[in-house]
Order: sequence, then structure tokens, then C-alpha cells
Amino acid sequence: MVTTRLETGTKIVGTLGPASWDEDVLAELIREGLDVARINASHSDHAAIRRQVSRVRRVSFQVGMPVAVLLDLQGPKIRLGKVDGALELSQGDVLTVVMDPDVIGSGTRVGTTYPEMAEDVQVGETVLFADGALIGEVSAVRRDISPAEVDVKLAFGGSLTSNKGLNLPDTAMSVPSLTDKDKADLAVGVEVGVDYVALSFVRDAGDLIELEQEMDKHGQRIPAIAKIEKPQAVKNLERILDHCAGLMVARGDLGVEVPIESVPVHQKRIIDAARRRGALVITATQMLDSMERNPRPTRAETTDVANAILDGTDAVMLSGETSVGAFPVQAVRMMDRIAREVEASPWFRVPEPHQLPAFDGLDDAMIRAAAYTLQEHPELPLVVFTWSGQAAFRASKIRPRGPIYGLTPDARVVDRLKLAWGITPLLVPPVRSTDDLILAGEQVLMEGGFLEKGQHYLVLAGRSPMRAAMHLLKIQRVGEGG
Ligand code: PEP
Repeated sequence: MVTTRLETGTKIVGTLGPASWDEDVLAELIREGLDVARINASHSDHAAIRRQVSRVRRVSFQVGMPVAVLLDLQGPKIRLGKVDGALELSQGDVLTVVMDPDVIGSGTRVGTTYPEMAEDVQVGETVLFADGALIGEVSAVRRDISPAEVDVKLAFGGSLTSNKGLNLPDTAMSVPSLTDKDKADLAVGVEVGVDYVALSFVRDAGDLIELEQEMDKHGQRIPAIAKIEKPQAVKNLERILDHCAGLMVARGDLGVEVPIESVPVHQKRIIDAARRRGALVITATQMLDSMERNPRPTRAETTDVANAILDGTDAVMLSGETSVGAFPVQAVRMMDRIAREVEASPWFRVPEPHQLPAFDGLDDAMIRAAAYTLQEHPELPLVVFTWSGQAAFRASKIRPRGPIYGLTPDARVVDRLKLAWGITPLLVPPVRSTDDLILAGEQVLMEGGFLEKGQHYLVLAGRSPMRAAMHLLKIQRVGEGG
């Protein structure tokens, strides 16, 4: 499979849904720049997960462009129960939440899917309903009746319909981050070979350790993305980063759990933490929200995408825009255009080599030396030979002005590299010597139209099972051998 399109630096994640399931639409999305297909387990049963993964693999093969698949696990999302019509609630009303998912809500009573709520909450803690549209404070807890009840005095009222979300930003919740549904969805993800797994409502490193242990039961560690959407997670970023491949700035629930005006500053903090550790980071939710309904975004939305890129995100994500929106192809095209415009501007800053993260082992000196070389010679394309993908993920942090090609003999790594900023991944045949490696690489790059005979480029090879090409950094000229 040959990639025929030079990547933008910033990668594009698009959520699949009824608006993008059609294979022709999916093919268009990939051609327009979709790098990662996100499957939202909140809205997909096991058959739907399987169907979506095989559809992405099939269409990606037909189009001739790799795509990574990200399975987004729902986590402990709490919901209210069903409601008879709608509850109309005003400021000062007391809403009683009953610890029974089957209660049909009416008047000022409603059920919940989280019966542990009465055990976990304390009087005075904040409760938000329907993505923060209604806000209140716990005013009483009755644990001695069955089912137990929690009274919430509303500071902001509004209308509540069936199955709305419930958020408890102050509460130390006893529910595990990885639910039984998540475990079952993960098993399907492992079976069908998804490239990344995202975990929702992460609070601390323990949640990711649990995910690692669950993956170990299946004998496979899939790179994990921790969704940062709870205030506790923002406090625990460093330890969370010890146990995941990257973070997602999950602004949807984050904007409910923290004051909405603090979301931009949290976004910067989360992106910065990931960058300093050399981890991946995705900025998500409502980036081009109005494109669910309109063919063009607002000025504020294009500026939001641009600012996330300037903050240093690896990827920007579309949710409703590609899953249920009326203009999924236009939304991906618009993201691609914004990314190209911003990356070519003087405001897009390449980090100084000394500002790069400290990598372990010999990679550190190698990556820094490559960064110094590219600082002096920004015209050189960077060709990274990578086996596990690690050298290419690390080289991506250089953010060079020119293209970066990630060449690997592992098709799985090709797909995974689609999430790394700036990397155009390509499959090369396995070879036995450094000379053969250079020759094989040049052949693939020339076939794809990425390099021409006589052109200079910078070669980087990281840790490798092939001793000859281990930790190699070299300026090479196409056609002059290894
Ligand atoms: C979010 O909350 O921003 C998010 C990405 O998660 P979800 O879309 O699953 O709610």
C-alpha cells in the first residue's frame, strides 16, 4: 500500500457514525485527510464495533492510504433514568435523585444508572445535569431508605428529558474507571486489532494501570489515550503520563466538570504536559461544531482549531461533525486547510532542540542531533526507519518544517503512525543490512513521488532488531547507496 498524499503536520481524528458509515463517504473523508477513525463505544454494540473496523480497513486499502482506528471506551458515564415527557425545573427547586435506574421520572423525582451515588456524595458537593445545563448542590442524602435518595437544590433550572448525563466533579467516586462494558468492548477491540484505545473519565494513574492489566489478560498492550475530562485528572497528569501513549483534551465533559471559562487554560496545560513528556495529544470536541448544520464554520471555530495547533496538539478531533453532521467531508477538508495554513505561518513555532523532551537511552542524543541538523538545513526531508514506531513518534516532536517519512516493515506500525504529528508512514520490505535498508527506503519514497534522484535527505534509525542500522543518523543522497 502506498500513501499518495503528503500529510499535514497536524493529524485529523474523525468520529464514525451514520453520517460517515457509507463507504463512498468514508473514502472521501480519507482522501480529504482523515488520519484516525474514532469508534465511540458509547454508541456502538459489539457487532457495530466489528463492522466499523472492517469497513475502515477495507476502504483504507481501496483508497491506498493507511488509517488508524481508535476505540473510545465509554468509562463510568453516569446518566439519569427515563422521564415521563420532560421535567421542568426552576432555580431553588429540589430535585430528588432516586438510586434506581428503572424509576420513571416525574415532578421533581428522577432515577439514575449510578446507584452508588448516595454512598459517594457529601452534602454541599456540586451536581450537574444534561452537560451542565442544570446545576445544583447536594442538600440531603437519605441512605437509610431503600432505594436511597439524594436531594439536589438547583442553582440553575431548566428542562430534563430521558437519559441525560449527570456529572459529579467534586465527588470521590467509588465506581471503577474501567466498567464491565468497557472490558467487554476492549476484548472486541483486541480481537479486531484496533490501533489505539481511549479511556473516558480517567481520574489517576490507577485507572490506566487497570486498563494495562486488562490488556495483559488478552496478551496485548494497545497504546492507550487517557481522556482528560475530570478535575482530578488535570491534577494527576504527570502520573497518568507514566501509563499511557497520550492524552485527549476531552473538552465536552471537561467543560462540564470544570468552570467553562477555565477550559482554554486547561487545554494549554494538558497539551504542554504531553509535549514535555514526548507523548501524543489530541484536542477534541466542538472544534467545528456549527459544521454539523452548515457547510462553513464560524470564524471562532477556525480560530479555535488554529489555536490548538499553535498550542502544539498532535491531532484535532471531529465528533458530531463527522458522525451525525450534514457536512462530514467538508468538515475534514476544512480542518486540513486550517492545519496547512497555520503550519506554513510564522506563528507556528518549531521548538529549539534543547526544548525537546528528554528521551531515554541513546534516542535522546539522536533526536536532538537530528533537530540541530534540521534547524541548519530545514530543506532536508527526514526519513525515519522505525521498527516499533518509537523513533518516528519521537522524531515527530522535532516538528520540522519539511516532511517526515516513517518507514517500517510492520503494517500495524504504519497505521499507528497516522496519529503522530507530521509523519507520513510507509511500509518497507524487511531487509538485512543498512545498505539494503537505504536502497529499499529510497525505492518506496521514489515510487510514492516523495524523493527524487540526487536529492539530499536526513536518515534517522532508532533502536532496531537489525544491528547494522541501529542508531543511525546520516545525510544521504538519493541514488548514492548506503
Ligand atoms: C468529550 O467529552 O469531549 C469527549 C471526547 O468524550 P465523548 O465524546 O465520549 O463524550
